[in-house]
Amino acid sequence: MSRVERISGLRGMNDILPADEALWRRFDDAVAATMRAYGYQRIRTPILEPTRLFVRGIGEVTDIVEKEMYSFTDALNDEQLTLRPENTAGVVRSVLEHNLLYDGPKRLWYTGPMFRHERPQRGRYRQFHQVGAEALGFAGPDADAEVILICQRLFDDLGLAGISLEINSLGAADERRAHREALIAHLAADEGVLDEDARRRLHTNPLRILDSKNPALQSIIAAAPKLIDFLGEASRAHFESLQSLLRAQNVPFRINPRLVRGLDYYNLTVFEWVTPFGPERTPLTICGGGRYDPLIEMLGGKPAPACGFAVGVERVLELMRATEHAVDSSLCDVYVAHQGDAAAPVALQVAERLRDAGLDVILHCGGGSFKSQFKRADGSGAWFAVVIGEDEVARGAASVKWLRESASASGRQESVPLDDLADLIIDQLTADDEQ
Ligand code: ATP
Ligand code: MG
Repeated sequence: MSRVERISGLRGMNDILPADEALWRRFDDAVAATMRAYGYQRIRTPILEPTRLFVRGIGEVTDIVEKEMYSFTDALNDEQLTLRPENTAGVVRSVLEHNLLYDGPKRLWYTGPMFRHERPQRGRYRQFHQVGAEALGFAGPDADAEVILICQRLFDDLGLAGISLEINSLGAADERRAHREALIAHLAADEGVLDEDARRRLHTNPLRILDSKNPALQSIIAAAPKLIDFLGEASRAHFESLQSLLRAQNVPFRINPRLVRGLDYYNLTVFEWVTPFGPERTPLTICGGGRYDPLIEMLGGKPAPACGFAVGVERVLELMRATEHAVDSSLCDVYVAHQGDAAAPVALQVAERLRDAGLDVILHCGGGSFKSQFKRADGSGAWFAVVIGEDEVARGAASVKWLRESASASGRQESVPLDDLADLIIDQLTADDEQ
């Protein structure tokens, strides 16, 4: 007998199962509250965009555009499309398309899945999620400080331990040009050491070589001329001012002159939040951001400054799992158990009334003994079981059973008239809350 083939999901693309839902919700709620606290509005852009958007908006000589994009031709109209590898380009496209900057700067945030064809490993997936914020139209270091403070508040709120902030300045285009020449000279003097990627990038995008994770390159990278030494007056003032704002808010940071970020359109401030250990005991970045003043113009808009960040959600959840005590994963407040033909419609009616009163209710389906139903009730994490059998129907009452240790009297059982049921349960739940 032939068995039907079972189809597996794609490598590096994860199912997020109900068991993880409480953790995701805790994260999502903290994000929404934090963004609100800073006056950021949510924007939702499509997952598919024209390939050109990312080629122009991220840069041709980047890991993402060179080898990580899921791009394909739409067979129906021959369009080149790409699953978004990040959302800044999409947000800026949308802002320009809808002229959102017409009445001044905008504070925006987004969350959702991103797609990159990378080698899957812990903390690195092919479909992963990012939360990001973009402050569009603000030129000063106060906006840089604000987006960093958003991260700080979010990570504090989530109780993340052991993460640290690194900052750097990439200066302005002409400063990067002078540094670039010095950098090419330094790297070319020892060209034999470079790997294939680095040799290819030597004359196209040498700054990106500093971002290389190849251990063989680390000593030549360490000895390379530092961009920070090439900064002019204005860039230095911007960087100084950001630092003093952070100091004034007691945000600890470290200046990392090697920090360049993967994307091409950054200028001035760049920052990353890192955890001490990743999979190979290398630092793992949970959030990257900075200023990208050239981007809006590069995508066809009227020049306007911008800064923002993107948080890797899976990496943060990993940290939450490591640092956090159990999150409440109960499915409902009340589990309604019932037995007998007469009880079934009464139980359904009771469940609906309890939901009307604002309670979360699971109504038992599929029959079975009360004993087996109580097992389900325990498994649901409910505070109360409401039991309806033939006796109860005859009396117009239900038995309420206290299920959880912390419910004011675990194991207690009481007969309650159906009309009083919702009030009694809500009273008990609030009493427990106040204890
Ligand atoms: P990395 O150097 O780790 O490849 P990146 O510079 O490519 O990171 P960004 O484009 O700045 O990353 O994205 C911001 C954040 O999104 C990263 O700091 C990381 O937390 C997360 N991230 C990036 N790529 C992945 C991925 N493939 N899987 C899971 N999270 C990711
Ligand atoms: Mg990457």
